[in-house]
Amino acid sequence: KRKAEIDTDALTTSILNKDITALSRAITLVESKNPKHTDKANTVLKKCLPYANKSIRIGITGVPGVGKSTFIETFGKHLTSLGKRVAVLAIDPTSSITKGSILGDKTRMEELVKDNNAFIRPSASGDSLGGVARKTRESIILCEAAGFNVIIIETVGVGQSETTVHSMVDFFLLLKLAGAGDELQGIKRGIIEMADAIAINKADGDNLKRAKLAKVEFNRALHLYPEKSSQWQPKVSVCSALQNKGIDTIWEIILDYIDITSKNNYFKQKRNEQNKFWLIQTIENQLKSDFFNSPKIKKEFSKQLELIKNNETTPFAAADYLLKLN
Ligand code: GDP
Repeated sequence: KRKAEIDTDALTTSILNKDITALSRAITLVESKNPKHTDKANTVLKKCLPYANKSIRIGITGVPGVGKSTFIETFGKHLTSLGKRVAVLAIDPTSSITKGSILGDKTRMEELVKDNNAFIRPSASGDSLGGVARKTRESIILCEAAGFNVIIIETVGVGQSETTVHSMVDFFLLLKLAGAGDELQGIKRGIIEMADAIAINKADGDNLKRAKLAKVEFNRALHLYPEKSSQWQPKVSVCSALQNKGIDTIWEIILDYIDITSKNNYFKQKRNEQNKFWLIQTIENQLKSDFFNSPKIKKEFSKQLELIKNNETTPFAAADYLLKLN
């Protein structure tokens, strides 16, 4: 028995009507490895595109345990109380290893998940970082078409994934903890440089004093960096996600950023650059996958590998040969 064809017009209309079930279905299409689904997904994406782009995209990162999900829950609730519609997506670089994701985990955002103005989607799994990232990038478009005007992208602070998230958001928020005087140790310079704001979380109880000290330290460190082309001076703030303290301040910082970068046109310029990056990235990925999936290449590839092993050719000559074959 044949399965019913997916009606991309009907699906798009439902998404535009803010139908969450339709949105979830479309994201599932985006995530699917079935080429037929990819075609359908591309059609829906194209139809949704004119209605997208009308949101603030915020990246949130930090090491496990810093309080990301607690923060997103409190922050998300704050935003919905202001009448915003909030979508939470996640990029988990380890999901391909663990085959499951702890990011964007609904059970960790119990309150937000019940909120009609919030949508939470865990990280796509079982794929490379590049694959997961692309799917998230496309999901942003779908969420925006469904009327979500704040998009939060959560990621764990372990290397490459921050750069990836940075390449798809307007504002990058780094969550930190106040350590015992070692605030500036073990911080990857690149990540600090990417941050538009640093929020020192768990600034409550006995920790409050240390958090405030850490704020001074981070501020000092941030001033050592050259001015950004956004003309935005990154801010440091303390907060308690658990006690809902300082969360409103962080939203105000983000609004200030949007205001400044909209006026100096950086906001739009950054999105244009991101689009260019994704265009090139997508072409590169597609070319690569077409190449390696071609039956002719698959066959010749192992032959060349054998020749290399026997010192009958070099990797470079073999690459040259294979590239010209296609
Ligand atoms: P994640 O791994 O970064 O998502 O961190 P979680 O949100 O799961 O938080 C890790 C632990 O820290 C949990 O036990 C939270 O209850 C706790 N936590 C999160 N935010 C705060 C906070 O602002 N203050 C305090 N005291 N604990 C917090």
